[in-house]
Amino acid sequence: MARFTIAHLYPDLMNLYGDRGNLVCLQKRLQWRGHECHIYSVGIGQNIDFGAIDMVFMGGGSDREQGLVYGDLIKRADAFRQAIEADLPVLCICGAYQLLGESYIAADGQRLQGLGFFNIVTRVAQPRLIGNILLETDLVGQKTTVVGFENHGGRTFLNDQRLKPFGRVVKGHGNNGQDGFEGMKYRNLVGTYLHGPLLPKNPSVADFFIKAMAARRGMSSTITPLYDTIETFAHQQVKYKILNS
Ligand code: GLN
Repeated sequence: MARFTIAHLYPDLMNLYGDRGNLVCLQKRLQWRGHECHIYSVGIGQNIDFGAIDMVFMGGGSDREQGLVYGDLIKRADAFRQAIEADLPVLCICGAYQLLGESYIAADGQRLQGLGFFNIVTRVAQPRLIGNILLETDLVGQKTTVVGFENHGGRTFLNDQRLKPFGRVVKGHGNNGQDGFEGMKYRNLVGTYLHGPLLPKNPSVADFFIKAMAARRGMSSTITPLYDTIETFAHQQVKYKILNS
């Protein structure tokens, strides 16, 4: 048994559509396997000891909130970048994903500086890209589907050779509604536009993060399988609904 710690960045500012449900899912899946999971909230100005945590999670937020968070996050950019290079599992949703890139250009043309970790640019355009989305991904070493919900004005383009997309869009919009890709993957970092309960409906993605956390602790990367009957049923139902809509 081990005790895992997940840092939840800016829960009061970056938590649209119940993105926090992803943390509840990770915590439960660790507990069901006999581990403890402590989730600790990090607000503006609060310290993050990247060496003492097993994962970072940050949800989506509006342009205004992205601006507030960026001002704080940039102060920790070096430590955050080093942790990502050291394979820290990180999940960034929507507004948080956009902040990892060079810039975010809002509807009024204002340029919000990003953390600049990757050569990614996001520019807002009309209409907003909203709806249920179905992806195909090889995140877990075999092709699986991912179901979710997206709602973003930003069109994101990955111009960085180091990055892979999180998935290929089967139905929906994805990064920009044009190139058929959704999100990004680098080491154990996933950035995605998929909001809300992404991990509960996609247990293989949840277990990708749990395996990565366990591996960094030198624990067997093989984790006990869980009976995912309900989760798989939820996934299949949403998938069916998306494919038939
Ligand atoms: N403001 C960003 C956009 O609309 C992100 C919004 C969000 O996190 N849903 O593209």
